[in-house]
Amino acid sequence: MTETSMQIKEELNKCVKCGACMSVCPIYRQTGREEMVARGKLALIEHLLNSGKDHHEQLSDFYRQAVDYCLLCHSCEENCSKNVKITTIVKAARQEITVATGLHPVKKFLFALLTGKRNQLRSLMKIGSWLQLLAWRRLPNGSGLKRRLPLPLIDEQTVIPQLPRKNLDDLLRERPLKRDSRERLLYYPGCTTRYLTPDVGMDTILVLEKLGYNVVVPASWSCCGAVTEAAGDRKSAARLRRQNLQVMREADDDLALVVTGCATCGHTLKEYPLPDRIRVMDISELLYERRDMLEELLQGRTIKEKITYHDPCHLRKGQGITMQPRWLLRLIAGDNFVELRHPERCCGSGGSFGITHKDLSRKILGEKIDDLRDTGAAIIASGCPGCLIQLNEGVQIASMNVDTVHPITLLARLLS
Ligand code: SF4
Ligand code: SF4
Repeated sequence: MTETSMQIKEELNKCVKCGACMSVCPIYRQTGREEMVARGKLALIEHLLNSGKDHHEQLSDFYRQAVDYCLLCHSCEENCSKNVKITTIVKAARQEITVATGLHPVKKFLFALLTGKRNQLRSLMKIGSWLQLLAWRRLPNGSGLKRRLPLPLIDEQTVIPQLPRKNLDDLLRERPLKRDSRERLLYYPGCTTRYLTPDVGMDTILVLEKLGYNVVVPASWSCCGAVTEAAGDRKSAARLRRQNLQVMREADDDLALVVTGCATCGHTLKEYPLPDRIRVMDISELLYERRDMLEELLQGRTIKEKITYHDPCHLRKGQGITMQPRWLLRLIAGDNFVELRHPERCCGSGGSFGITHKDLSRKILGEKIDDLRDTGAAIIASGCPGCLIQLNEGVQIASMNVDTVHPITLLARLLS
């Protein structure tokens, strides 16, 4: 491997082959294959490193599949008493493979859009929103779109959110942000919220303004880089990180707080080498800090439907945030809040994993949907746009009448 070989070797040495990771790995639960679980992957990577062999073995289908079949869900890390940085090792191995073989053409195209000029992505989404009804059919109640025509990597069960005519930037131009002498913060919406679910962004801004913040949404934010890093494209991830750090450095001195409602973006931003004055928070952390004021604003209003909650991996295992979203849902739903049997289990989305490994991803999703059905809930909430898209697909496939929503949307409904 590259310049990080020594660090990777040190991490690999920490593994005592205890197998505790096997009981929690969603991929292993479905496949039962040793090379798919952390212990097996690490053994293969260690063998390759120690053998001194290079690309020949690295490119064997068996090795590549073992490295590729990982949701980067951190479940194994949460259960590993030796604190092995398993996802770091998997990402490093993916990078080696990507350097040797190049990216999948679809990922190459997507990453070029994410790392290129923002106008390109914005224009493509606009064109897509006009063209979507040619290739897609609308599902009832605005719950998404299914394909009409054959499309690569998208089967007839795939549900994607309907591309909105107006993205978050358009909506902000129509409804200018409040500007007065109150405390200011930077809002990081992330690409999914910005382009696919801008209403969630507007809900977040509404709640933050009710709490007394002036919200600043820099037009120059870039993608956080999580998806490019997961694919082994570290160069793109580094470029995106640099661009976002630049935005933070150029912000006024009083803009020291960055808030996001995307679990994956928050996890990624928190791992940046942040300027000293900058603090990144998930929206649920901030709401919990401001709980006295929020309770006052709500004045006892609650939602009446039964609601449950899915822990996004990047929130629970990536950032250790479990209490705050539950506190929020109990506040707004009271006794109507019920837990899933396994709220911590990954939903199978894993960034682009759900697109490139559809069958396996759907099997993992099926476990979540079975748990959801058992609760009898009418709403499932989750603080990750990627999880919400995946959960919505599961709900549609199972023909269930369940809303998939971000907790901030429920809160905004009660406050507006
Ligand atoms: S739980 Fe950790 S130490 Fe045990 S086998 Fe898995 S990676 Fe190795
Ligand atoms: S990160 Fe998740 S999918 Fe990957 S090996 Fe660990 S538990 Fe399995």
